[in-house]
Amino acid sequence: MLESRNAPLSVREVSLSEPREREVLVKMEMAGLCRSDLNAIVGHTRYDMPLVLGHEGAGTVVRAGRNVTSLKEGDRVVLSWAAFCGDCFFCNKGLNHQCHTVAWPRGKGLLPDWTTRFSEGDKPIFHFNGVSSFSEYTVVYETGCVKVDDDIPFEVASVVGCSVVTGIGAVYNSAGVEKGSTALVVGGGNVGISVIQALKIKGAALIIAVDPKAEKHTLIKDAGADIVLSDISIDEIRKATGGFGVDYAFDGVATEETLNASLAAVRRAGIVVMVGYPHPLAKYSVQPIEFHLEKRIVGSLYGSSNPVRDIPRLLDFYKQGRLKLDGFSSGSYRLEEINEAIKALENNGGKYTITFN
Ligand SMILES: [Zn+2]
Ligand SMILES: [Zn+2]
Repeated sequence: MLESRNAPLSVREVSLSEPREREVLVKMEMAGLCRSDLNAIVGHTRYDMPLVLGHEGAGTVVRAGRNVTSLKEGDRVVLSWAAFCGDCFFCNKGLNHQCHTVAWPRGKGLLPDWTTRFSEGDKPIFHFNGVSSFSEYTVVYETGCVKVDDDIPFEVASVVGCSVVTGIGAVYNSAGVEKGSTALVVGGGNVGISVIQALKIKGAALIIAVDPKAEKHTLIKDAGADIVLSDISIDEIRKATGGFGVDYAFDGVATEETLNASLAAVRRAGIVVMVGYPHPLAKYSVQPIEFHLEKRIVGSLYGSSNPVRDIPRLLDFYKQGRLKLDGFSSGSYRLEEINEAIKALENNGGKYTITFN
């Protein structure tokens, strides 16, 4: 539980009420720790507190509330923060990831009916992104809870719900990459590695990846990159693409420098997909002549993904051996040790999982 900014998380028993309409009670088996959890702790993103942190994980359905049709007791599930109502302006346009009916209360730490299930005495405890996976039990909205096959290990199921969906969706949904395309991937973190793997599955002809950390280059190559650079060298990129530039650039870093370099790296009428999360108050300058060359910058939230459609698809890729997810986690901690996991992420990066007794 996060009680104030920059404070260590506290672990203690609180009350959790029964699932209401279209909600399910889930017993957590394993949760993933992600950078957005850190952003909440240090206050880059602001939330009402106290809140139960965690927005990735997998577990088992204990009880389904009224009008839940897709889930039942005993189902193995992956949690996703991108739950949606299915019937608002955005959902009706197929833009479920922009569903405002769920996003407004979610941003305030509430479930879609604008209340919380966690409490302590008469005080509400807020949810984090509608998931709150750092808890032995949690209540989530039906569309943020995706049934998966029983043979998917929890080690895999617990880490796919955020960065993997985001990276794969950026390629499949936000960009709509075609077979034979050339692409630049900026940043070799969990999202970047997922972008590279998705490009490979899509049949990209050339994948150039950039990460300043040389020790990551082997991992990036193993994911499927053909060329790995330490910085965004426009000369190298042009040389590798017959002087044209790449068809797509996926900017997983989203700073002024990387966004401009990505724009310079794509060919005329090429597409830059901004996958990374910029500082909320950042302002960048760009050379608008690039848009005269019909280059485009495309936004990408959660890889424009629908969790109910896309999580089973990526787990199929995993089962077919086309998406490598084993060994994705760099370490595992028990819930009581969660502050050590947070330190490990701060110091070393990577992906850590949280287990429950
Ligand atoms: Zn909606
Ligand atoms: Zn995340």
